[in-house]
Amino acid sequence: MSDCLFCKIVDKSIPAKIVLESDEWLAFEDIDAKAPVHILLIPKQHIADLHSVNTSGLFESLMKGVSKVITHFNLQENGYRVVTNQGKDGGQAVFHLHFHIFGKRKMSWPPG
Ligand code: 5GP
Ligand code: ZN
Repeated sequence: MSDCLFCKIVDKSIPAKIVLESDEWLAFEDIDAKAPVHILLIPKQHIADLHSVNTSGLFESLMKGVSKVITHFNLQENGYRVVTNQGKDGGQAVFHLHFHIFGKRKMSWPPG
């Protein structure tokens, strides 16, 4: 999608600090990190949000990607948080599906 920020990161027309990738997903550092580890994992194809995922295969692939990021940073040892913000009430700002992966600090609950 031509006017989508994260599609531009996928096609490398906007730079990002890429951590891991596969044919189907890309994981890169959030530009405004809220934890020592704050990674965004996105599908390479444009999908607006979690509610728009309609194939279990893609969902499985994205979750495998999340798992790879977790082991890449050794987050399984002390724990981590995976978040996706959906729509207006969820606080979604970028309408290309992304999972936030936070680690290396203790998280509070409930989220704001
Ligand atoms: P949302 O609020 O949609 O769940 O999260 C969007 C995230 O994208 C935010 O955490 C924000 O910091 C991140 N972000 C926005 N613009 C950029 C950018 O140009 N590069 C990177 N790496 N992250 C971005
Ligand atoms: Zn997009």
